[in-house]
Amino acid sequence: PVPGALAVNEYSAAQKKAKQNKKGGGFQAMGLSHPVALGINKRGYKIPTPIQRKTIPLILEGRDVVAMAKTGSGKTACFLIPMFERLKQRDPTKGARALIFSPTRELAIQTFKFIRELGKFLDLKVILVLGGDSMDSQFSAIHTCPDVIVGTPGRFLHLCVEMDLKLSSVEYVVFDEADRLFEMGFGEQLNETLSRLPEARQTVMFSATLPKLLVDFAKAGLSDPVLIRLDVES
Ligand code: ADP
Ligand code: MG
Repeated sequence: PVPGALAVNEYSAAQKKAKQNKKGGGFQAMGLSHPVALGINKRGYKIPTPIQRKTIPLILEGRDVVAMAKTGSGKTACFLIPMFERLKQRDPTKGARALIFSPTRELAIQTFKFIRELGKFLDLKVILVLGGDSMDSQFSAIHTCPDVIVGTPGRFLHLCVEMDLKLSSVEYVVFDEADRLFEMGFGEQLNETLSRLPEARQTVMFSATLPKLLVDFAKAGLSDPVLIRLDVES
């Protein structure tokens, strides 16, 4: 690589960024609150990815969204940034206000860590509810009145039933890696969970693929959803 070529690359990257910000395509144009913007900065994100640019404004508006984009396209921040804006700060007087469903323990833990980092400047209380962990530790975790619960669907539902958990405070629900949620066989538990959630809520679904099963689930569980598909990088 010649130094000249590098300079040209850097220049066009800066140009592109300036153009995007001018167009209103940057994080700055999303009108995010200070603690959320700080978290994005801290994590080192300069410009939103295409799926972030398309979904975050819609979710901030309160729309239900089904978003399909390939792995690695930055979907986690798509649902976390609007969640932070919506929950704002810790409220131990209510039950959990946000639920995030992941297909596996590993993914749930990854999302939990993501919240810790990106949400570093908010003081939200987040707990993990995972199959394989002791029920007792989860009973105590629930008693801390978390703002957000990240979990796998089977254990979450089990806990709901065992603890007769009220979900009336839930206002934001995420089905992450939705295609894999179904591949893992959680369909029945997810439908049962839907029936326990309050009607007045915002629901978003993220997936790498969109099989018919998922379309049907979205029709049942989401309200007038906007479908965003990024099959190719744009
Ligand atoms: P997906 O869920 O679509 O597979 P992730 O949310 O796991 O993707 O993000 C993939 C990687 O991209 C992560 O390391 C994440 O921190 C990073 N990332 C996400 N958004 C941005 C951004 N706007 N700028 C730079 N890196 C980003
Ligand atoms: Mg993901």
